[in-house]
Amino acid sequence: MQISAKQVGSACRAEGASAARTPGVIRVSGLTKNSIVDGPGIRFVVFGQGCPLKCPDCHNPSTHDFFGGELMDISDIVAQIESDPLLDGVTFSGGEPFAQAVAFAELAARLPHHHIMCYSGYTFDELYSRSQSKQGDDIRALLSRIDVLVDGRFDSVRKTYDAKFKGSTNQRAIDVKESLQHGKAIEISL
Ligand code: SF4
Repeated sequence: MQISAKQVGSACRAEGASAARTPGVIRVSGLTKNSIVDGPGIRFVVFGQGCPLKCPDCHNPSTHDFFGGELMDISDIVAQIESDPLLDGVTFSGGEPFAQAVAFAELAARLPHHHIMCYSGYTFDELYSRSQSKQGDDIRALLSRIDVLVDGRFDSVRKTYDAKFKGSTNQRAIDVKESLQHGKAIEISL
């Protein structure tokens, strides 16, 4: 399903996302400290709470409710990450991180020396299109802080256990910095 940049914006302004508009606060469904399945190396994973996309057979339906999970201070999460010198990077997962683009952008901005990977149900093309619009500041801010984006909705028909760090074969690993420079999605091998 292809959706418009306007729809991306509407979803990203979804009701629950407003809870995370409070500066310094993010709504999470959970944190994982030493993951080896959410990107290259050992990673700290921040699972956002709230997703408007509701892909059929989503593995994490408990993360859809914008009022579920818990609100956390971004400073507390940064402190946990900075206390672990063995991490190879940080991964944002969902829920849908771009539904809380302001909060995730703030978190990423406070981790300038960490490799940031992000999962999104939106494609890079949808997010990039939105980021170029007048209302796209929050999407642009988060995109610009990400190194690798694994994009696209989970498609249960194309479900796979073989594609590294992806749930279905339609999903792509995108080199975000290169893609922003060229204005189109550029894939990367993980
Ligand atoms: S985008 Fe992710 S969290 Fe949202 S419904 Fe799809 S698979 Fe589930």
